[in-house]
Amino acid sequence: MSNLSNYKVLSKIGEGTYGVVYKAESLTSEGPDEIAHDLVAMKKIRLSDHQEGVPVTTLREVALLKQLCHPNIVRLRDIIPSSPKLYLVFDFMDLDLKQCMDSRFCDGMPDEYIKSCMEQILRGVDFCHSNDVLHRDLKPQNVLIDREGRVKLADFGLARAFHSNKIYTHEVVTLWYRAPELLLGQEKYTAAVDIWSVGCIFAELACRKPLFPGDSEIDELFKIFKCLGTPDEAVWPGVGSLPWYQDQFPRWSTKEIGAEVAMMSEEAVGLLQRLLVYEPCQRLKAEDALESPYFDAVRGKDVLLSLDDYKLAADNFSPASEPPTQSTVSDDIQPVHVRSTTLQPEQLQLDIENRQTKKRKVSK
Ligand code: ADP
Ligand code: MG
Repeated sequence: MSNLSNYKVLSKIGEGTYGVVYKAESLTSEGPDEIAHDLVAMKKIRLSDHQEGVPVTTLREVALLKQLCHPNIVRLRDIIPSSPKLYLVFDFMDLDLKQCMDSRFCDGMPDEYIKSCMEQILRGVDFCHSNDVLHRDLKPQNVLIDREGRVKLADFGLARAFHSNKIYTHEVVTLWYRAPELLLGQEKYTAAVDIWSVGCIFAELACRKPLFPGDSEIDELFKIFKCLGTPDEAVWPGVGSLPWYQDQFPRWSTKEIGAEVAMMSEEAVGLLQRLLVYEPCQRLKAEDALESPYFDAVRGKDVLLSLDDYKLAADNFSPASEPPTQSTVSDDIQPVHVRSTTLQPEQLQLDIENRQTKKRKVSK
């Protein structure tokens, strides 16, 4: 562990679930090969104000993440406790996948890029799952890319490390990638929650729009049900006993997902269908997903596709020489929203009633 004086903050690059992320420069070299302009992303996490020091359990979890080394996981380089805050220092990446989709591929992402991206995502997920680390919040904002087309997953394992802490965010917690078992209140969940998210990201990359863009837990569930059919005991044994499952859920029949994602090839749809299986234990494992015929063309090859190959404006990347806008790590971040992401059964009921009232009004 080092201290804050080893880093010079250049700019703020993000604000997420736990605090602020800065782009910074490491002022010390880690080895003889490291040179100046060694860029890092520093994530400032605000811990509970009432606590003395950083909780040992948090430190232990984070220290474990430091050992999670894989080409498709963003490297955690350093951990700096500075109570009541904790700074995590990661290798810097150029863009996240959301920024990439928003700004760079106006005509859609080329198939080969989607394939490479998905393969790298699945490799990262497979590595973490085989080390018993779950993500629980995989979404395009947590998938990082560099100009060479290397894809790395960010935020892995942090959900568990900071489980008991409040959420400080300007950002609304997105539900679009959340697995149905979580939306239905299952408490004991598995690696399959990440696979669901990977499926949603896959469809979004191919179709250039989010697959299930719900604006509340119930809307999210109903968007999924409308597309894949309302789950019952036949397709998902045990679904009826999940805490927030309601017998009064509207019954949508199963549709072919292929119709929803018309831009995807037959092979791609074949893979997508197996990622978006309702019953968590039947959902494909990352390891098996990598065996899909969809990846045949890239199997065994280390396909990296430089983003620059796609005639994209290089100035969209933040240049290393960007002038510093801030020289110290500021301490002024205040909690803005504390959002509850838990849907209470009463709310669910209420929401269903509201919908039914609306429907009745419309049908009059
Ligand atoms: P949170 O858990 O608060 O969502 P993230 O680690 O996802 O925090 O960071 C928030 C945003 O900051 C990301 O969506 C991304 O845009 C940017 N970011 C995070 N880590 C890096 C990094 N290593 N390199 C470049 N940008 C990053
Ligand atoms: Mg994030």
